[in-house]
Amino acid sequence: MSLAERLALVTEGISDAATRAGRDEKDITMIVVTKFHPAQLVRDLYDLGVRDVGENRHQEAEAKAAELAELDLTWHFIGQLQSNKARAARKYASVVHSVDRSSLVTALGNAAFTPSGEPELNVVPVLDCFVQLNLTQDPARGGVQPADVVELAELVAAEPSLNLRGVMAVAPLEEEPRVAFARVRAASDRVRSVIPTATYISAGMSHDYAEAIAEGATHLRIGSAITGNGPVAG
Ligand SMILES: *Cc1c(COP(=O)(O)O)cnc(C)c1O
Repeated sequence: MSLAERLALVTEGISDAATRAGRDEKDITMIVVTKFHPAQLVRDLYDLGVRDVGENRHQEAEAKAAELAELDLTWHFIGQLQSNKARAARKYASVVHSVDRSSLVTALGNAAFTPSGEPELNVVPVLDCFVQLNLTQDPARGGVQPADVVELAELVAAEPSLNLRGVMAVAPLEEEPRVAFARVRAASDRVRSVIPTATYISAGMSHDYAEAIAEGATHLRIGSAITGNGPVAG
């Protein structure tokens, strides 16, 4: 199957899942995760109409965004981010899905200003953020426990240069995805009760996006089902 065919298949799958869930597919944004793939693949996706792309490693994302700077792409950062890379990440990312601790909130917020307190000119003035939930007990997975999500969300919302859009999660392999995504929806409801504008849910990947849509996901992060498994362009 070609890249165009895989993209069409997933787009159709999203549309079907939205219909089954009684939702409007226009309320669902598909982000194509291009990690491990060369910039040329992103260019090919762009030619097929894709505008939202996701990356999970800072150095790789930074290099690709620089190489493709002339394209009108929205770069979503979806991986673990070291605080000392926050300033650099803000230079290309319009959205960070993986805000998982207070020190990162501070670092991302500070990155809107130069060390002398002037507005930093090379960053998006307001960065869209999701707080990442950890649906497991393993701290290495990244994200905060559901019990701590409201507190972290409030910290993001209090930063003038950050815009809290919602919650993000990865379904654990060892759990039924629909059950895991129901917990994400419940966490989203709690966040929205204090920050009503944080309406987005970033959830759903190649193998579980239909379940995520059924539980209210607004942003899907889809890699291999579209890009294929190996780092091959086209
Ligand atoms: C790689 C990745 C995805 C995409 O995963 P696929 O199974 O290839 O669709 C989504 N979210 C995150 C955080 C990822 O790292």
